Amino acid sequence: MRYAMAIDTKKCVGCSDCVVACQTENNIPHGYARDWISETVQGTYPGLHLEIRSERCNHCNNTPCVRTCPTGASHIIDGGIVKVTPEECIGCGACIESCPYDARYVHPEGYVDKCTFCDHRISNGQDPACVSVCPTHCMYFGDLDDPNSQVSKVIAVRNIKVLAPEAGTQPQIFYLV
Ligand code: SF4
Ligand code: SF4
Ligand code: SF4
Repeated sequence: MRYAMAIDTKKCVGCSDCVVACQTENNIPHGYARDWISETVQGTYPGLHLEIRSERCNHCNNTPCVRTCPTGASHIIDGGIVKVTPEECIGCGACIESCPYDARYVHPEGYVDKCTFCDHRISNGQDPACVSVCPTHCMYFGDLDDPNSQVSKVIAVRNIKVLAPEAGTQPQIFYLV
């Protein structure tokens, strides 16, 4: 079992419904977020292309955030999901410094927080909250080890990229380009 997400940059319209859904589902304090929208302009005029991406923790295979955590609060659970145990987090920020994606923030209560792939939902057979609300259906979630999962099928037939591959973290969020 290896959970992953694929997001179609050709269908994302930057509506931020995924951000609001996550904030609501996970009771994120006002002014904070586990996912966010990035926009990158590529090419040169007049051939400019705007790429809009929904970003979050990449649930990397190679995890500097887990290695640098001095207490073990940052850890990996079944399916490769990277999580933080709030009660074990001392808020030192080492994981935040080590993440190439700026995917973590300090919760007002003092612990570090980030995307969990909504593990509480997927354990009930539901998609993550962000995936479930996307109006353009541009997000795919599932088990990369299962060739019949939605995410495996779409990755097999589309061009993909990951963010900052040079960081060597082996992200498990794939962008369809
Ligand atoms: Fe893009 Fe879907 Fe998020 Fe809207 S909900 S910003 S279309 S990924
Ligand atoms: Fe860790 Fe950052 Fe990778 Fe998430 S994106 S697993 S926080 S290194
Ligand atoms: Fe938020 Fe869940 Fe989506 Fe992660 S998987 S960004 S926690 S809604």
